[in-house]
Amino acid sequence: PFDVLIVGGGPAGAAAAIYTARKGIRTGVVAERFGGQVLDTMGIENFASVPHTEGPKFAADLERHVRDYDVDIMNLQRAEKVIPASEAGGLHEVQLANGASLKTRTLILSTGARWRQMNVPGEDTYKNKGVAYCPHCDGPLFKGKRVAVIGGGNSGVEAAIDLAGIVAHVTLIEFDTDLRADAVLQRKLASLPNVKIITSALTTEVIGDGEKVSGLVYKDRNHDTLHEIELEGIFVQIGLVPNTEFLRDTIALSPRGEIEIDHRGETSRPGIFAAGDATTVPYKQIVIAAGDGAKAALSAFDYLIRNEPV
Ligand code: FAD
Repeated sequence: PFDVLIVGGGPAGAAAAIYTARKGIRTGVVAERFGGQVLDTMGIENFASVPHTEGPKFAADLERHVRDYDVDIMNLQRAEKVIPASEAGGLHEVQLANGASLKTRTLILSTGARWRQMNVPGEDTYKNKGVAYCPHCDGPLFKGKRVAVIGGGNSGVEAAIDLAGIVAHVTLIEFDTDLRADAVLQRKLASLPNVKIITSALTTEVIGDGEKVSGLVYKDRNHDTLHEIELEGIFVQIGLVPNTEFLRDTIALSPRGEIEIDHRGETSRPGIFAAGDATTVPYKQIVIAAGDGAKAALSAFDYLIRNEPV
């Protein structure tokens, strides 16, 4: 069996693997796609000590760093079920989609999350070419330009407030008749001079010049009419979905499906830890996921030296 099995090969899982491997304990990583969300990212400019890198390069660097150590990387493998140990020190079991079953003394879950997409024409074509999902990451790329934020929940309204301080103009588009964000955020948003709010609007298309975004089309749901807005950027803020469906019956999840963890990264099950975007930790960022991966790894090591194998 493994001493530590990590499910998920993004920044959280990679950092965890480096930490446990450096303790000299038997470490495995199961990843559907080693690298995780950074594989879909263009520029990364907010990882302290790395002023600029590209997502695929960051992912390759992560993998190279993990491979410097004796880590068993099982890439392109999906975990489908976790069966926790029945007693402290016992073995947890992870079942893979390919039918294999892995046993481990501790488990670190770092399966990340995915941004909910609008699924309209042009969204995929212009992803990273004007269509963005992370205001903390990509907001500065649109300095002085016009953007839209899709979604009037807390994350959409927070994004609009944030972006209004950077870009020339923000149009917030909400499907419903009213915004759903907290009142204090809505008041703040309404006080900003360069923000326009459009409710009862369904985005139907992202348009561009072949190279980058030039506008969007929305349907006014009250009058069933189509309208076009000229702009350079679109931030889609209609939800971040944790990749935790396979854990639903096993581990305590928040109402939003995030893995509940304590300050040491331990889940509701002893010996099972979690880190990164899949957890309840606020602010989904690479540096935060990596830090929490290291924390979960050290907590797993601590668990191993305190619990004799049974
Ligand atoms: P992820 O990166 O999501 O990795 C999850 C891993 O788990 C993957 O390997 C995945 O294949 C695997 N996995 C999932 N389910 C299973 C399963 N059942 N079995 C096995 N493996 C599984 N953050 C920044 O700090 N700066 C940026 O500039 C930035 N830009 C971004 C741009 C885009 C377009 C996106 C989408 C995100 C961006 N982020 C950025 C956010 C950042 O990428 C995430 O916060 C970070 O990747 C989270 O790391 P993670 O390890 O928790 O999860």
